[in-house]
Amino acid sequence: MKEEIFKLIKLQAIDSEIAGFDNTIANHQAVITSREQAIEEKQEAIAVFRSKIELLNQKQRETKSEHDEAGIRVKDRQNKMMQVQTSREHQALLKEIEENKKLFKETEDRILQFLEQIEQLEQEVATLENLCSGEQQLLAEAVVTVEKEIKRIESTKKSIVSQRDKEAAALEPPYLKRYAMLIDKRDRLAVVAVNVNVCQGCYMALPPQQVIEIRKAEKLHTCPTCQRILYYKEPEGTAVEK
Ligand SMILES: [Zn+2]
Repeated sequence: MKEEIFKLIKLQAIDSEIAGFDNTIANHQAVITSREQAIEEKQEAIAVFRSKIELLNQKQRETKSEHDEAGIRVKDRQNKMMQVQTSREHQALLKEIEENKKLFKETEDRILQFLEQIEQLEQEVATLENLCSGEQQLLAEAVVTVEKEIKRIESTKKSIVSQRDKEAAALEPPYLKRYAMLIDKRDRLAVVAVNVNVCQGCYMALPPQQVIEIRKAEKLHTCPTCQRILYYKEPEGTAVEK
C-alpha cells in the first residue's frame, strides 16, 4: 500500500506542476487581455470626443451663418436709412439695426465659445491618441514576449505530461480512477498531506484515531470532509532538535 500512496503523491506533484503551468499561461493571457481592453476604452473615448467635436462644428457653422446674416441685415438697414421719409420708418429701422447688431455680437461670442470647446476636445483626442499609440507599441512588444514565454512553458509542460502519463499508467486502475475523479472535482488537488491533524485540502481537523491509521499507511485513507486522498507528513521542525 505504501508504494501506491507514494505513486499517488508523485502523480499529484506532477499534476500540480502542470496546473501551475496552466495558471502561468492564463495569467500571461489575462495581462494581455486587460491591456487590450485599456486601449479599447481609450479608443471608445476618442470616438465619443470626435462625435462631440462634429456636433460642435455643426453648431458653430449654423451660428456663423446666423452671424453673417445679421451683419448683412445691419448693412441693408443702414442703407435704407438714407431713403426713409417718416420718423416712424426711421424709428423702425433703428430698432432693427440695434437688434441685428446685438445678434451679430452675441453670435460672435457663441462662435468663440464653440471654437474654444472644439480646441479643448481636440487636445484631449490628441493626448488619448498619443497614449493609445504608445500603449499599442508596448503591447505589441509584450505580445511577442508572452507568446515566446507561453511556447517555452508549453514545451516544458509537454515533456512533463508524457512523464505524467507514465506515472498514471503505473497506478492500480481503481486508484487512478478515484484520483482522476478527485482531480476533476476538487480543483486539481486529489492527494493532500495531513499536517498537525488537519487535512491540507479543506483544513478540517481529522479524528486522532484516523491520523494514527493514516500514519501507518496500511490502506488508502480519505478525508471525511473533502474526500481527498490523505497521507501523513511529519510536522516541520520535529525531525531536527537543537
Ligand atoms: Zn479534507
